[in-house]
Amino acid sequence: EPFPIYLSGKVAKGFGRGGKELGCPTANLEESSLVQIESKTRRTGVYYGYARVAQAAEGDNDVLPMVMSVGYNPYYKNEKLTAEIHVMHEFKSDFYGYEMRAVILGYIRPEYDYVSRDALIEDIDTDKQVALRSLSRSKYEEFKTDKHFFESD
Ligand code: ADP
Ligand code: MG
Repeated sequence: EPFPIYLSGKVAKGFGRGGKELGCPTANLEESSLVQIESKTRRTGVYYGYARVAQAAEGDNDVLPMVMSVGYNPYYKNEKLTAEIHVMHEFKSDFYGYEMRAVILGYIRPEYDYVSRDALIEDIDTDKQVALRSLSRSKYEEFKTDKHFFESD
């Protein structure tokens, strides 16, 4: 069990495709932070946990539930790992360049090749439900107040 996996890194600009259009923007973590994942697991797919953007405005800076996709980027001939976090929260504004902290608590599923956009959207919806149900277990409560989210390094 590699969990919990603690992460922190700046939110980088992605290719802007898919995310917001699918109603599922994903905050891409900067490359230098990916070693925190790679040193703990090499399994690609969808994970869940909590995330926080401390510098965000009040109302947007809480510890929030998230789903995260980890994969290899075909653009870089699948040599580069990518990690994208969708926070289950409606933000008032974007937070590119801000520091994001997260704790990964579990694995949901591997990545599939989607035949249709509808199938993908449906799966993302299921992922969010699975994440919320899993996070409602009392053993995860403590991570919402983990010092990782409230201390600077
Ligand atoms: P990109 O390809 O640049 O990652 P996206 O369409 O995936 O573009 O949008 C991601 C950006 O949207 C994030 O970097 C962040 O600034 C913003 N954003 C707004 N709401 C959310 C959210 N709920 N979860 C993740 N990112 C969000
Ligand atoms: Mg993205």
